[in-house]
Amino acid sequence: MRAPSFHRRAVLLGAAGLALDALPAWASADGHAWPMASAVPGGVAHVPLGPASQRPAALAGELPLLVLGDPAGWTALVGIPLAAEPGEARIAVPVDGGAPRELAYRVAPKRYAEQRLKVAPRTVDLSPDDLARFERERDHQQRVIATFSEPLPTTLRMRVPTPGRRSSSFGLRRLFNGQGRNPHSGMDIAAPQGAPVVAPLAGRVIDTGDYFFNGQTVWLDHGGGLLSMVCHLSAIAVRVGDAVPAGARLGAVGATGRVTGPHLHWGVMLNRAMVDPALFIDG
Ligand code: ZN
Repeated sequence: MRAPSFHRRAVLLGAAGLALDALPAWASADGHAWPMASAVPGGVAHVPLGPASQRPAALAGELPLLVLGDPAGWTALVGIPLAAEPGEARIAVPVDGGAPRELAYRVAPKRYAEQRLKVAPRTVDLSPDDLARFERERDHQQRVIATFSEPLPTTLRMRVPTPGRRSSSFGLRRLFNGQGRNPHSGMDIAAPQGAPVVAPLAGRVIDTGDYFFNGQTVWLDHGGGLLSMVCHLSAIAVRVGDAVPAGARLGAVGATGRVTGPHLHWGVMLNRAMVDPALFIDG
């Protein structure tokens, strides 16, 4: 799928006699832009903010948004939570000494697949110890994902962190014995134990650990509230604080955490919403 807003922009720029390379750096020369615009739960909305001499700030509720572009036109890239209700949503652009400017965009409905599984009750219910551990880890992760740093990313076009068959299970809703779980919030890549896992985009390592559900995990901060995570690793090759270029080795594919076999789980987060990694890569 292409990004219509950027097609339009490319056409407008073309009509004005400007070369297509006048597109912002984060859009590629042929008018595509990563992430692709997909204003659905679990997608990314491109909300144009118009021209301004300086990069404007933009907020979704209290959360700062990633704003990219140049003085000819800025765009807020808004990660839309999987739990978002379809319909009108708003962002705000603070205005010096005045009421913030509100901008509306539409979240279109998207129906994700549902999977009903019957399993032995003890594999669904956590023991009190496991539950306590999970809650500790969840609180820790809340602190990790609050990261919003500069510099902002110069491109958002990611590489797939490991080669292999990519599932399209993002957003899949799983029900165990009729009980709903959080939807699947990343991309699963089938890859053998030990296969190298690389950074999808340049970034800084902001967390590593071995977690109950996610197993051995690395979180990267790419700037501007864009984060990515790789999970279930058999080995971790980086440390918190490391700056890594795109393609740098982060670790190796494994089966740690709550999984049935080796694979890579890859998550991408924007303004604290897990969004579909497929929007950030070539089809
Ligand atoms: Zn997964």
